[in-house]
Amino acid sequence: MVDKKIKTLGDALRRNGVSRRGFLKFCTATASMMALPPAMVPALAASLDKARRPSVIWLSFQECTGCTESLTRSHSPTLENLIFDHISLDYHHTLQAASGHAAEAAREEAMRANEGNYLVVVDGAIPLGNPGYSTIAGFSNLQILEETAAGAAAVIAVGSCAAFGGLPKADPNPTGAVSVRDIVTDKPVVNVSGCPPIPVVITGVLAHFLTFGTLPELDEYGRPKAFFGTSIHDRCYRRPFYDKGLFANTFDDEGARKGWCLYKLGCKGPMTYNACATVKWNEGTSWPVESGHGCLGCSQPDFWDAGGFYNALSIPVGDISRTTSYAAAAGLGVAAVAAGINHKTKVAARKRHDRVTIDDLEKIS
Ligand code: SF4
Ligand code: SF4
Repeated sequence: MVDKKIKTLGDALRRNGVSRRGFLKFCTATASMMALPPAMVPALAASLDKARRPSVIWLSFQECTGCTESLTRSHSPTLENLIFDHISLDYHHTLQAASGHAAEAAREEAMRANEGNYLVVVDGAIPLGNPGYSTIAGFSNLQILEETAAGAAAVIAVGSCAAFGGLPKADPNPTGAVSVRDIVTDKPVVNVSGCPPIPVVITGVLAHFLTFGTLPELDEYGRPKAFFGTSIHDRCYRRPFYDKGLFANTFDDEGARKGWCLYKLGCKGPMTYNACATVKWNEGTSWPVESGHGCLGCSQPDFWDAGGFYNALSIPVGDISRTTSYAAAAGLGVAAVAAGINHKTKVAARKRHDRVTIDDLEKIS
């Protein structure tokens, strides 16, 4: 999957003909998305240039492979892909050529050779109801996760199934599905939730680890604040219509045709934290609300059970505050409340910094 002669990300960039200017543009965009000040861009570029290939073991449990599809099919070759390609993806059911004993041997060798330093990426929930519901090489998902996470530096739970249990955990949860954080409690776990998650958020977490050797700052759900710090509602381009009380009442009425707010059609944007409204999907082409459909709340815990995708939130229009819980707003008393959802003051005021141009960066880096 990866040319082992390429030692650093800089080698990979040069081998793939990526210009210095293009690389700096990528670093500037990444720093911006990760809420890093412009002054950090040269450090980000220098660290990424020298970054060596971390070993990554990707485990797939109760999932639909949508998270892998999201990442690998999202863009034509880009720098984000290059960063993903740059990691030493030593084990991944869907992408690896090896199978059977050879595949398991690759996982064991990666664990042994990189003890304490490798990353584990997980997509899918873990069934506890019956260990035989989902097995790999004769071992339950629980056994594989515990064994693999034991020597990891950190675990990245990709997608809402790994982060919160997702669809497998939806009522009545027939397999007893749980999230990665329910199992792994002695390691840093980053939740990159979403159904599927936004690819650039996954690569942003990897870029942060490659640059700083640490994981980004997380919110109360273990999600990177840089991407999950603001609600869909607060960044939605339909927000002026919400503020004026102009709503679509059906998907084909005059309000819908005029692009008015989708709140009354079940939009969960006011209680959902994700970067869709700014990063968008398909190389920034569009996102669900821009395409005329309300946000389903897919990056929040228990969104499958949150009262119906087309039922309006039960809180009155104009009474949405950051202290209102997702489940309470959806009119539910489910586990999300017990999980302590509290979004007050999620967005810390960010200092303004002078703009730094690409030309400036080329001079100083
Ligand atoms: S309720 Fe939904 S459509 Fe309306 S402004 Fe908020 S996020 Fe946008
Ligand atoms: S708009 Fe809402 S439901 Fe759609 S992908 Fe983004 S967070 Fe998920």
